Amino acid sequence: MTDQAHPLIGNNTIDPEALWQDVMETARFGATGKGGICRLALSAEDHQVREWFRSSCSSLGATLTTDTMGNQFARIEGEEAGLAPIAIGSHLDTQPTGGKFDGIIGVLAGISVLRLLKETGTRLRHPVEVVNWTNEEGTRFAPAMLSSGVFAGIFTPDYALSRTDNNGVRFETALAAIDAAGTQPCGVHPLAAYLELHIEQGPVLEAENCTIGVVTGVQGMRWYEVTVTGRESHAGTTPMSMRSDALQAAARLMASIQEIALNRPPHAVGTVGMVSVRPNSRNTVPGEVSFSVDLRDPSDDVVIAMENSFRERAGVLSREYGVSIGIREIWDSPAVHFDQRLIDAVSFAARSLHLPSREITSGAGHDAAYLARIVPATMIFVPCADGISHNESESATREDIAAGANVLLQTLLIADRQLDALPASGG
Ligand SMILES: [Zn+2]
Repeated sequence: MTDQAHPLIGNNTIDPEALWQDVMETARFGATGKGGICRLALSAEDHQVREWFRSSCSSLGATLTTDTMGNQFARIEGEEAGLAPIAIGSHLDTQPTGGKFDGIIGVLAGISVLRLLKETGTRLRHPVEVVNWTNEEGTRFAPAMLSSGVFAGIFTPDYALSRTDNNGVRFETALAAIDAAGTQPCGVHPLAAYLELHIEQGPVLEAENCTIGVVTGVQGMRWYEVTVTGRESHAGTTPMSMRSDALQAAARLMASIQEIALNRPPHAVGTVGMVSVRPNSRNTVPGEVSFSVDLRDPSDDVVIAMENSFRERAGVLSREYGVSIGIREIWDSPAVHFDQRLIDAVSFAARSLHLPSREITSGAGHDAAYLARIVPATMIFVPCADGISHNESESATREDIAAGANVLLQTLLIADRQLDALPASGG
């Protein structure tokens, strides 16, 4: 999809000041002393920002619908009857020590688009909707992206509603406590396409002086729990040749993760983030070591190849050290490829706005990753300072956010004219 900019919008761009003001205004709900936000899903602060969303969208002439997971949809009608809406969205909940931008700019950029449509008196062919997905962060109620997951059919409503927080409060109870549940069954809401603007949450765009990340997908990811079992014995009296040292074998296996990832450039990453040693005593040869492994790459084939290399290496070390090694996969999240027509539209929009851009794969999960399973979807990234996110010092500039919102607007306009041939999803 490469085309001229929308004739109705002409050279109009979104108002960067109004967008920035919205960012600062929503940052009041759950503001922390260090300039960040603590706005856990379905908390009193989340209730405040959800009410703000409702009234801001209503004052722009949008109609609100809320589904049974508390997902909020603000809709402006289109010109042509029978077309499903093109949705723009993200999330308004944050980490306990979160920033002002993660998720939030994706929703607020959508509100800026509604504002521009109203001010210019423009109607698109499709309805346009701004969406706030409930509980994206997964901090209060695990797992992350819970409500977009139900919408996309990844989780059942019963599973989602019965999640509990650390105090044993059920998701369903928390929804009711702030009157956030709507009547529309989650997932029946039709969409023609889904667009999400987000900060990169990594350092690549800033390092390369790129304003726009044209996101091609979300990388594949697998998690494992590895247990190496040897034999505990006295550190002074057991000769080296007669040991079954779980830690020496585990250390070499852990080191191999680095090598395995480095052997598959340019994107593969492998991480050991948690280790425990038993009995963890200075003068005992370790009998058992368990550790985590996290493998990621944009290609599922590469993730599988890394896993195979890792298992092979475990076999060799198990024989060499006389230990047994168990590898248990605990999570498999396949790679997501966004809609190529929408990726091309984002790329075209960035070029036509003279903004430096590059293709990028998301290293983190997002609502768009689930939406992409049921509807044409893509994402746009903008830089954040030092790539830092999930942190109160998270920072992004007014100019970059506005640039991202303008790319979002142009992408919407291209999609509005060219996506109608696609059947609408039924959620
Ligand atoms: Zn986010």
